[in-house]
Amino acid sequence: MTTTAYPNLLAPLDLGFTTLRNRVIMGSMHTGLEDRFYNYGKLAAFYRERARGGVGLIVTGGISPNRQGWLLPFGGTLNSVFDVPNHRRVTRAVHEEGGKILMQILHAGRYGYQPFVVSASAIRSPISRFKPKALTEAGIASTIRAYVRCAKLARSAGYDGVEIMGSEGYLLNQFLCARANRRTDGWGGPIENRMRLAVEVVRRIRAALGPDFILMYRHSVLDLVEGGNTWDEIVLVAKALGAAGATILNTGYGWHEARIPTIVTSVPRAAFADIAGRLRKEVGIPVVASNRINMPGEAENILARGDADLVSMARPFLADPDFVVKAATGRADQINTCIACNQACLDHTFSNRRATCLVNPRACHETELVYRKAAATRRIAVVGAGPAGLSAATVAAERGHRVTLFDASARIGGQFNIAMRVPGKEEFAETIRYFGRRLELLGVDIRLNCLITREELLAQGFDEVVVATGIRTRQPAIPGIDHPMVLSYLDVLREGRPVGRRVAIIGAGGIGFDMGEFLVHDPKVPLPVPAGHWMQEWGVDPLGATAGGLAPPVAPQPPRQVWLLQRKSTRPGAGLGKTSGWVHRATLARNGVTMLAGVQYERIDDAGLHITVGGEQRLLEVDNVVICAGQESLAELMPAEGATGGPRFYKIGGAALASELDAKRAIREGAELAARL
Ligand code: NAP
Ligand code: SF4
Repeated sequence: MTTTAYPNLLAPLDLGFTTLRNRVIMGSMHTGLEDRFYNYGKLAAFYRERARGGVGLIVTGGISPNRQGWLLPFGGTLNSVFDVPNHRRVTRAVHEEGGKILMQILHAGRYGYQPFVVSASAIRSPISRFKPKALTEAGIASTIRAYVRCAKLARSAGYDGVEIMGSEGYLLNQFLCARANRRTDGWGGPIENRMRLAVEVVRRIRAALGPDFILMYRHSVLDLVEGGNTWDEIVLVAKALGAAGATILNTGYGWHEARIPTIVTSVPRAAFADIAGRLRKEVGIPVVASNRINMPGEAENILARGDADLVSMARPFLADPDFVVKAATGRADQINTCIACNQACLDHTFSNRRATCLVNPRACHETELVYRKAAATRRIAVVGAGPAGLSAATVAAERGHRVTLFDASARIGGQFNIAMRVPGKEEFAETIRYFGRRLELLGVDIRLNCLITREELLAQGFDEVVVATGIRTRQPAIPGIDHPMVLSYLDVLREGRPVGRRVAIIGAGGIGFDMGEFLVHDPKVPLPVPAGHWMQEWGVDPLGATAGGLAPPVAPQPPRQVWLLQRKSTRPGAGLGKTSGWVHRATLARNGVTMLAGVQYERIDDAGLHITVGGEQRLLEVDNVVICAGQESLAELMPAEGATGGPRFYKIGGAALASELDAKRAIREGAELAARL
């Protein structure tokens, strides 16, 4: 066992009245389990695994102090003793594993998706349906009492403290910033008034609960919206929060309504850590770095250079509950890395579904998706080493089966090898690394460059065959589709075929958008894109000299003129991820990509691509047409309907359903099938 690679990350932190076993915080992540009383057993199992995995301090998903603060109707609330026993199940599970846990108190303010919403002023947020009522003086007093009551109940439920959610544009952040606070009384106007609610909440909780209760405050250190605070104001508030009794200052970046991304995969790793470092120099209490930190190396570097006392990671603990113990025992190469895709966590949360994880379908399903030792060892062939096949092969091998994995290509990873070539999607390589290491450790017999036939499979005497052969690209029936200017997305992303300066992309799904980003990327900018360049492109002033930390974006220099086309009349990109689609649309728009919907493809010839759009015939004089028109299933290995004898065959991932080819479904299907075999 070695701890030398991460000495700072694994060092305990003495808070005076209690000690954290290391510097790793599992940040707050709303799972959806906290919203229903009957799900607390599952929630306890979820946190138990993370505490067992060695995380120093866990923060729960947001719990509202009262009905007005609900994010969603009947969202998780702690305002009565009747809720305490449920929370005790969670705290007991964490304490039994040697961990510590804070409950996050989150009052959504005007972000609540419910009719009782309140805020500093009656101004609707651009991303909300409900207009808030401005809190009266009496309403403010009762809100503070609700926070204190909630913190007291949290203590009686066994929590080691609370985190007060003061960033991301929620209620306390709304009071803090002129953007949402136009009050003319003692709670609005100058920053000293705007910060009163946040400071009062901290002061009153500290007074009510005494000195030996962890009180972490998540402070918005970069609002990234017009009407946000300047750096000087942010520092003033931070000092006041410390003086009022906060034990730890966590950092938050960007309101939910900000049009600058802060957590999606194209945000450079640890992009905001030095802002935490600047805050740390101003305050006398521990500061937490956060956002897009997903591997122990990054976290260690942040601590080593003095940018923070602790590092918070939320999604990485969905991806791998054993993140800390793997780092601590020299097994960081076995970490299942969060690729920041948001597909199964935040996209689920924001569409009112239980969160899980694309790369770890057990997340939030710990009691339901269980990998038990197999009663009898079977010989299993998995054909296809894409996400579905990798998931099936590793889970089956983990359960004790003898697994042989076949793939026609020279490497494992399937479509992830394509995705990782897209600028801003470099993280996808981590998943291939993770599965590769897992296969090695589990002793899976890997046969690459092997196009196995059904006859060969039958001859080799397998008990079960998992067909995860994926897809073939769809070739649309457009006259001239065989013209040499036509390329498939595989030609471009996998084979590296050259592409001209004027390009039409046929198909505006996930891969069409990815292709757009690939084609407009300026080759002078290195990949992954450095944080400084990324901030300039998105218009971030990391020094916070301006209100909200906004700066005029620097115009990109795309090397190509691109048209992105679809036949549907809906807005291109409407089907992309709920929390990431807007980032892709904004990136292409900023790079001058013309997105056309309602397109009819007429023909392709030497002149270019002929289309009809809005009843008008047009010629796009392009050098290349790149086809991103979806896929069709490739499952020729499956036996004919009704065939009997031989091994049992199963079909998963793209081979089972290409129309919704989706790594989240593929990995989940692979795991669920292998858990049953
Ligand atoms: P897709 O999302 O199904 O999009 C296929 C596109 O091709 C659509 O725009 C469709 O639009 C068009 N199309 C379909 N049939 C056509 C035909 N016969 N002729 C011309 N155009 C046709 O598929 P994808 O882009 O290949 O992505 C596959 C999956 O990968 C997605 O479902 C997604 O889960 C995943 N993915 C997601 C992302 C992301 O979210 N960022 C990125 C990459 C991949 P019209 O029918 O309107 O023309
Ligand atoms: Fe990370 Fe994607 Fe898993 Fe969310 S779904 S935790 S972003 S890998």
